[in-house]
Amino acid sequence: MTPLTEPEIRAAFVNCTKGEAKRLHVPRDLGTRPWDDLDFLGWRDPQALDRAYLVAVPDGRPVALALRRPSPGPGRQRRTMCSVCLTNPVGGVSLMVARKAGKAGQQGNSVGIYLCDDLACSLYVRGRKDAGPGARLPESLTLEEKVERTRSHLTAFITRVTT
Ligand SMILES: [Zn+2]
Repeated sequence: MTPLTEPEIRAAFVNCTKGEAKRLHVPRDLGTRPWDDLDFLGWRDPQALDRAYLVAVPDGRPVALALRRPSPGPGRQRRTMCSVCLTNPVGGVSLMVARKAGKAGQQGNSVGIYLCDDLACSLYVRGRKDAGPGARLPESLTLEEKVERTRSHLTAFITRVTT
C-alpha cells in the first residue's frame, strides 16, 4: 500500500469522533513500516491494551477504523482463525469490535471480526513474519491470490463498518 502520514491516518478515521481521532495513538515509526508488504497497517495502543486501529486504502482513499478488543473472559484459549488472513498465529487471534460509522454507530451498533492479535496479517500471508508451527494451512493458491483474498476479506469488513 502507499505509505501514509500521521495526518492522513488521523483524517481517515470513520468510526470515532474527530477529537478521538486527534488523540488516539498512531505509531511514530511510520517511516520505517514495510508499506510495500502491507495490505493494511494495523497497530495496538501500547497504553490501552483493549484498543487497536487499522488503516487501509480500499478504493484509493484511506479508511481507518478504531477497534475495541473486549476483555477476554476466563478460558480464552479457544483456537480461532483470523478472518482476514486465515492464520492461527502463535500470538493469538482476538475478537475485535468496530463501532459502525455514522448514525448506526451513534445508536450503538457495532460489528466484530476475528483478527490476528498483532494485526500483522499482511506479513503472515507473505511469510515475512513467522506465525508459528501449523499456523497456516498448506494451500495451492499463489501469493497473489492469497494477497487478493486477504484484501477482499478486509475490504468486506470495512464495508460492514461503513454501510
Ligand atoms: Zn490475520
